[in-house]
Formats: sequence, structure tokens, C-alpha cells
Amino acid sequence: MRYAELAAAYERLEATSKRLEMRAILAELFRPLKPPELPHVLYLSQGLLRPEYEGVELGVADSLARRAVAAAAGVDEAKVRHRAKELGDLGTTVAELFAGRTTLAAEEPLTVARVYAVLEEIAHSSGEGSQEAKVKALTGLLGAATALEAKYLVRFVLGTLRVGVREMTILDALAEAFAGGGKESRTRIEAAFNLSSDLGLVASALVDGGLPALDTISLEVGRPIRPMLAEREPSLAEVLERMEGKAALEYKYDGLRVQAHIPRSGPVRLFSRRLEEISAQFPELVRELAHAVHAKPAIVEGECVPIDLDTDEIQPFQEVSRRRGRKHDLDKAQEEIPVALFLFDVLLAGGEATYGLDFADRRARLEATVRPNDRIRLAKQEVVTDVDAAARFLDEAIAAGGEGVMAKSVGPGSSYRAGARGFWWIKYKRDYTVGLTDSIDGVVVGGFQGRGRRAGRYGAFLLAVYDAEKDRFESFCKVGSGFDDAALAEMPKRLAPFDSEERPAGVETGLAPDRWFRPGLVLEVRGAELTLSPIHRAARGAVRAELGLALRFPRFTGRYRDDKGPTDATTSHELFEMYRGQVRQAVAEAPDEPA
Ligand code: AMP
Repeated sequence: MRYAELAAAYERLEATSKRLEMRAILAELFRPLKPPELPHVLYLSQGLLRPEYEGVELGVADSLARRAVAAAAGVDEAKVRHRAKELGDLGTTVAELFAGRTTLAAEEPLTVARVYAVLEEIAHSSGEGSQEAKVKALTGLLGAATALEAKYLVRFVLGTLRVGVREMTILDALAEAFAGGGKESRTRIEAAFNLSSDLGLVASALVDGGLPALDTISLEVGRPIRPMLAEREPSLAEVLERMEGKAALEYKYDGLRVQAHIPRSGPVRLFSRRLEEISAQFPELVRELAHAVHAKPAIVEGECVPIDLDTDEIQPFQEVSRRRGRKHDLDKAQEEIPVALFLFDVLLAGGEATYGLDFADRRARLEATVRPNDRIRLAKQEVVTDVDAAARFLDEAIAAGGEGVMAKSVGPGSSYRAGARGFWWIKYKRDYTVGLTDSIDGVVVGGFQGRGRRAGRYGAFLLAVYDAEKDRFESFCKVGSGFDDAALAEMPKRLAPFDSEERPAGVETGLAPDRWFRPGLVLEVRGAELTLSPIHRAARGAVRAELGLALRFPRFTGRYRDDKGPTDATTSHELFEMYRGQVRQAVAEAPDEPA
């Protein structure tokens, strides 16, 4: 396939925010393709070279890309810098510089295969002289590109491709292109993706062997599974009712979710909740897991929390987040902030897939697979059948430093649901019963200019929740409280990669912020209560037509949820459930009406 066809599709994708249209454009793009071109086009359209969990990066900074653009266009670098600053985007700048240019007569038109090969080369060059090599490779590509192609090449290498294609939309398009578009085939395709986290792999299997080929995709050590997620209920009584009177309660540890892959031999690898590899940040867990887990190969999941090794007390989460992303002084960090991993699930043990077993059987397998030690422990668990026992266990969990309990269904059908949020797992924190003190993880989609003391910088931000069904981000509050000067000063830097001239595809709101951001940065906020709003769009129409849900008196807690991607944020459905819980509670607390 010519790269021009891909660029033309991007141009069309950028012009729409309608999921159905995006699906049709993508399906049309994918239909004629076969492996290896198909997976390459899939990854490229997501702004990636390889599945996200592999963390392959191009390592191309703005200045490097500018040099390549200047060389390819035959103009001064200062001119490129100046114009890019004015236009706010090097992609548009190169398109302008190349305007009217078709490829040089001597050059063959660019193909996806060539673009992909050169980008891989750029990603893999490292060490001395690599900067020059990258400039040269990129200049070569741009030299063979038309204006439109160059625009998207530059945006790709800078990680600012704005076509807004998310995984769920790609899955829709794959179902439409290769499996008739029906709901059942879409579900099967998604299930294969949830197990493998690799759209390219799923698409290749689908094209080669149709839907049945998807069944051959299974768990593999080194390839993370998409995590199972929890719903909430407003009271322990309702938790138990949902679970038909019997639930396994576990401490809900407040830390970082870790998926550990333990091969038969070779190093243990750790993945975060958003499937980034974090092995390097927790060398002691890597080391200890190899000892503690004896049925290899295995994949286990747990929560990593800071712990005081002298007293065995769990420490606040903030401590562990200080260790994330840290590349230097790891030895020092290990000593200063020791962590323990509390395991709560097993997906593969002794090479055998266990994710399909019911939860009680998985827990038994977990216990049989792990020899706990100081650092590797089992999540504390108790099976309860009545509310009193559940309340006692909750007290115990909170006293031990947990933030609440996780209730897990032990009944038939309680297999591990990769990538799904459902009532098989229910999280419950005590404070659900006293107003809305539960936190919400919101995605920043806009910024508002500050006034007074905040003049000249952002004073508030527009936050959205994620609607997983519609694959879009719906605003629920404008938050300015809770940011101290340091946090405010830091926000532009954190938001820069998501800067957008226009309202990004898939963002729904009735407000017009001064600056838009593509969904990327997730912040934790709290508020007084959820109310109905004509401006905000979260769960719009779910309670009343034309009205969405909004958070009153929102406040940033100071916690950046770097462990969550935008689609891992709180969902519109969760917000709706929280609203429902709030209403029920208000009804329960209202004084009885006189007869
Ligand atoms: P939340 O992030 O608020 O949606 O809560 C779900 C998260 O709780 C999971 O993703 C885990 O990181 C964490 N967690 C803590 N303890 C447990 C447990 N015992 N079982 C499952 N998840 C747990």
C-alpha cells in the first residue's frame, strides 16, 4: 500500500469526530490488507510501531525533527522553528513548506513498507552517532514525501498524530472489514485483544483464519493481559445481594497494580495497569518473585504498596508513586521506600491457563503456586455470607492500612474477565456511605486562562470521564481548587503532548475552554456531590433527557494518575452508579414523612 493512501485516510479521520464514520474509514483502509502490512497500518494509525506494551519509542525530539524538515525542504532551520512556533505544529509547517510538491521525479512513491522499515530503523538506532543517523533517515523519508505525507510523518515521529483512533474503534473496524460487522464477532475479536493486548496479532489471525483462528490466541508470558476491573455498590448489603449472598472479601490495597510474568527461566517482567513495563523500577520484586512463585511459567497479579519492613505497616500510596518513573538511584529508592506485592490473582500457573477457572479455584491455585515471603504476600481474604461479617472485615482492612475491600464473586461464571468492568468484582470503601467522598479519575480535555493571582497561566481545567460504549470523553467538571503554585506551574508541561488547536475527536462538552487537550492526562479529584447539569455531558440522558452529570465543588487531590491511560479513567457508567448510590442514600436518610 502506498503511504499516500494512509495519509489520505488520516486526513478524513481528522475531519470527523463520529465513531461510525471513523469505523467506516478504517474498515475501508484495512480491507485490502494482509499481514505484515495490516498490523503495521494498525500500529501506525495508533501512533505506534509495536503494540503499546512493548514500549518501543522513536526517540525523536522536536529539534531533531526540525533539522530533518529543514534539510528536506532546503531551508534554514531557524525559519522552520519560527514558522512551527507560529503554527503550533511542525506537521502543518512541513506541509506548508512542501506545498505543491509532488515527489521528486527520481523517487519512487512512498510505500507503507518503506515508511515502517525506516521508522523501525530510527527507533532502533541508539548510542553514539544515533542522532545524526536519525536525522539522516528522517530526511530521506521526507525527501520522498508529498506535502500531505510529510505532515503525517512528522506528526508520527513527534508522537502528535491527532487522528484520535482508539483501540475500541479499531476493533469495530476489524469486525466490519473481516467478520461481517456483527455484534458477536465484535465480542470475539475484543476477547482475543483482551487476552493478547496486541491488535496486530488479532488482526493477522483474523485475516489468516477467520474468527476460529482467534481461539488459538492465548496467554503468553511476556505479553500482558488486559486487567479485569471492578464495579461499585453503595453499601455492603448491596454488595452481598449482587453476589447472591456469598462473596470473597479482600483488603483493597491502595498502591500500584502489578501484573507479573514469571518465565520458566530468564528474568521476571512486571507490567503496570496500563501495561507499561515497570520491571526496572522494582528490582526487588523481580528478584523475589522468581523465588516465591514455583509453578513456572506463571502470570500473577497483585497490588504493590509501600511497607515499613520493621513494623509490617502499610504506608501511604504517595510513597510508591515516587518510585515510578525513577531511573536513577534505584538502590537508594529500594531502601528508602521498600514495597511489598500483595497477590490477588493467578492467570497462568505451571504453563496452564487458569484465567478461565472460577475465582475460588483460582485463589486455591494462587495459594498452591506461591510461597509467600517478606516482599511477596497474598492479599488477605475471607469468604463471607452476611453483612455483619463483611462489616467486621472492612474495619479490619481499614485498620490494616487498606482503603476498603474488594468483593469477588465466587460463584459459577466467576472466571477472570480480561479488560472488562463488571459486578464479579465490586470495590467498596467505607466512605461511600457518607456523601460523595469517593474520588474520581478525570481526563483533562481543556484549560481555562487564570485570573488574578493565576493570570498568565491556567486557572482551571475541564475534566471528562470515559464512555466505554460510545468510546468518547464526556465532561463532568471544571476544576481549579486543589492546585498549589507548583502543581499549576507544572501543568503546561504535563499537558504539552496533548495540546490541540480544536476540540479533539470524541470529546463531548457544553463548555468552551481556552485551550483543548487530547485525552491523555488523568487526575484524581473529589467533590461534594453529583448533580444534573445542562452543560456537562457525562452519562447524558441516563437520569434525565438533555442533562448530564456534574461534580459540585471539585478539588484536585494532588494525585496524578500516571498509572492510568485516558480510557482507564472513571467511566460515565461508574459516575451514573455513583449518582444512583447517592440518591438511594438520600432517600434512606430522609426523615420519615408524617402519615
Ligand atoms: P480502582 O482503581 O479504584 O478502580 O480500584 C481497582 C483497583 O484496586 C485494581 O485495579 C487494583 O489495582 C486495586 N486493588 C487493590 N487491592 C485489590 C484486590 N485485593 N483485588 C483486586 N484489586 C485490588
